[in-house]
Amino acid sequence: MKSEPLLISGPCSVETEDQLMTTAQLLANTGKVSVLRAGIWKPRTRPGEFEGIGSIGLEWLKRAKAETGLPTAVEVATAKHVEEALASGVDILWVGARSTANPFTVQEIADALRGIDVPVLVKNPVNPDLQLWAGALERINKAGISKLGAIHRGFSSFEKSAFRNEPMWEIAIQLRTLCPELPIINDPSHICGNSELIPYIAQKALDLDMQGLMIEAHMDPSKAWTDAKQQVSPAALAEIVGNFNLRQPESKDAAFIDKLTELRKEIDKIDDLVLQKLADRMRITQKIGEYKRDNKVTILQVNRWDDIMKKRTAFAKALKLDRNFTEKFLELVHAESIRLQTEVMNVEAKMP
Ligand code: PEP
Ligand code: MN
Repeated sequence: MKSEPLLISGPCSVETEDQLMTTAQLLANTGKVSVLRAGIWKPRTRPGEFEGIGSIGLEWLKRAKAETGLPTAVEVATAKHVEEALASGVDILWVGARSTANPFTVQEIADALRGIDVPVLVKNPVNPDLQLWAGALERINKAGISKLGAIHRGFSSFEKSAFRNEPMWEIAIQLRTLCPELPIINDPSHICGNSELIPYIAQKALDLDMQGLMIEAHMDPSKAWTDAKQQVSPAALAEIVGNFNLRQPESKDAAFIDKLTELRKEIDKIDDLVLQKLADRMRITQKIGEYKRDNKVTILQVNRWDDIMKKRTAFAKALKLDRNFTEKFLELVHAESIRLQTEVMNVEAKMP
């Protein structure tokens, strides 16, 4: 069985000394939490909302650490935050999503960290931009920070969905490909925006082999001053973690390896066939392009495209393929066909 993931938990915001101490103690008692998180300075969308308890909260956090033995993690957004947090003995710092989106802020934090090898976690930027995320990690790394990690907290999107922030898993996977050694921690609380979906997103993160989770917890979530809907009680957290299905990234079992190798061989064969057929399709597309060009017909016939989409999606449905996947696939194939035909159109017609 795979060892349990690193679990960072604690309130969205430190509110009062009692709220922090009680929450921290309950979390420590679950025996599942490795790091206590707490927001001291809160970035809020509108001014006038509770903007964090500020420096006094660091004193309470020091007490929580002494009494529970849990290392602590705090969000920093300015050089002053970095100095204060380190002076108070905070163990791990994290850069919030709004800060990651701003290279000036990230540079200020990086400069304040120079020469201090404290672990730093960098949340993904609010907008779905892999380069901005990687760039922030790079700036912190260049300041001499070697214990780096990323936090995947989802991305802002115009589309309405069940999530507060769209997971866009592919961006986290691209970061994994770019920096294979970098630990990635998933933050289902900020992805979901409500407590109900947290188990589902957390399990998915574990199935994608993410190294840890950051889950907001509060002694009494309904009374939380910030992010009340997405916080869970320490008891609920213990239940969520207890229900995880922990899978291993690999198995040494010979029968399992044999079966997997066999299935993968089948997939390889099918992928080759799919590519072969796609190449055949594109060659015909090209022919059609030449034919349209020689007969002075436009590339796109909207009716034909509508017809293809309708027929193919109905067929795909009968084959039990996911609709969204089929549509995306067909759109990609169509876009490539148009690109090819545009190329053909712009070559002088061959003389017969
Ligand atoms: C937080 O972790 O409380 C927080 C403000 O997160 P984010 O930067 O992801 O919005
Ligand atoms: Mn929060």
